[in-house]
Amino acid sequence: MRYISTRGGMPPKKFSEILMSGLSPDGGLAMPESYPQINAGELEQWRGMSYQALAFEILSRFIDDIPANDLRSIIERTYTQDIFGSDDITPLRTLEPGLHILGLSNGPTLAFKDIAMQLLGNLFEYTLEKTGHELNILGATSGDTGSSAEYAMRGKHGIRVFMLSPNEKMSRFQTAQMFSLQDENIFNIAIRGVFDDCQDIVKAVSNDHHFKSKYNIGTVNSINWARILAQVVYYFKGYFAATQSNTEQVSFAVPSGNFGNICAGHVARMMGLPIKQLMLATNENDVLDEFFRTGIYRPRATVETKHTSSPSMDISKASNFERFIFDLTERDAVKVKQLWQGVDKGEAFNLSATPLWEKIKDFGFISGSSNHASRIAMIRQLYQQHNVLVDTHTADGLKVAMALREADIPCICMETALPVKFAESIIEAIGHEPERPAGFENLEDLPQRYMVKDANSQVIKDFIAENSC
Ligand SMILES: *Cc1c(COP(=O)(O)O)cnc(C)c1O
Repeated sequence: MRYISTRGGMPPKKFSEILMSGLSPDGGLAMPESYPQINAGELEQWRGMSYQALAFEILSRFIDDIPANDLRSIIERTYTQDIFGSDDITPLRTLEPGLHILGLSNGPTLAFKDIAMQLLGNLFEYTLEKTGHELNILGATSGDTGSSAEYAMRGKHGIRVFMLSPNEKMSRFQTAQMFSLQDENIFNIAIRGVFDDCQDIVKAVSNDHHFKSKYNIGTVNSINWARILAQVVYYFKGYFAATQSNTEQVSFAVPSGNFGNICAGHVARMMGLPIKQLMLATNENDVLDEFFRTGIYRPRATVETKHTSSPSMDISKASNFERFIFDLTERDAVKVKQLWQGVDKGEAFNLSATPLWEKIKDFGFISGSSNHASRIAMIRQLYQQHNVLVDTHTADGLKVAMALREADIPCICMETALPVKFAESIIEAIGHEPERPAGFENLEDLPQRYMVKDANSQVIKDFIAENSC
């Protein structure tokens, strides 16, 4: 398996050559040259497999430059009952016949990003060890991604994490989740400023190419192909759990931001998994819903991005969306390059008057959006009718699923975080705090390890230079 760029400017590369970044030198995103096709016999065999065995079958079709035994052991170390709370890894709950919730949020930070990030941590450590290289990860976070990355990289050899967050701007729970880590390779840096200041520092450091290469600076952003790949596994797992035989079709409802999760669903469908519809759900930041309804992709300015009660979906443009457009155009890199030359300048594009628009249907995508009132109502309704408590992001997905699902097709809604992370909205919906999962009872009382620094990229560079691997 070789990987190419959505913009056509990269000679085919092996998996381990694209593992660390996912962004190719021409600005495009890495994509497999083709999708492995799963035939009926294989699908039948896979139905009875454990999460770990299934993950190996899927990953080994995309990763052929890590010896099979090593890959198997990486997978077995990653997807354990100890880390994900059950041997199922992604347990399925049935709300009523034909309506299910797939639990993706039982990892260390209680959000679905752990499923991909935990694998990434082990793949990084393995590859760095093989090549003798080291990596300093620099990131900016307003909550979820940063903590997921820290829990994946903690204690890993050859890796240090420098995570910037806006000082005193995250929730107490999120702050405690990150700052209570005592591992010596994790540096929590609270910046006197807002999230954008943190992101500006990351950009400034990354644009200093001399510094970047001298200190092996890397990132763990959402365009990383290995993250998408890890997520393909649970679409298969969810499908098998919700059906009796491979003649059945299902639909998935996916709370979406950067288009990473649902992109994995698209990949699973392209491999031959019988998915009827991929229902994309947005919050008030509806750039993706707008596209799938109108054919117009109109990235927003940062100032236009609304702060909502499902904050992990507050995006102004969807970084992985380019991967889908690449497939929609039948992998026309010239076309993608032309479209994204506009997008990178903040311009919109409109496919509605082109033959491509008709083809969207063939890919199974439909969409809807949610807002604060409907997500609160959905949380309350589910709690009253089914005694099930979901978080605000999952509620957005459920709201859209209820509106779009077909009566005779089972619908699987992705649970992307646990309610305890968004306690304020839960109290608004049901009048009291969500229960805390075991191990999280006194999170905010644990000792915290962090430092506060000015929003100044030179200050951060000096700190990295002193503390890098
Ligand atoms: C990141 C995130 C999302 C959005 O997922 P994408 O892969 O960016 O589309 C949804 N819900 C939660 C809780 C998240 O952390």
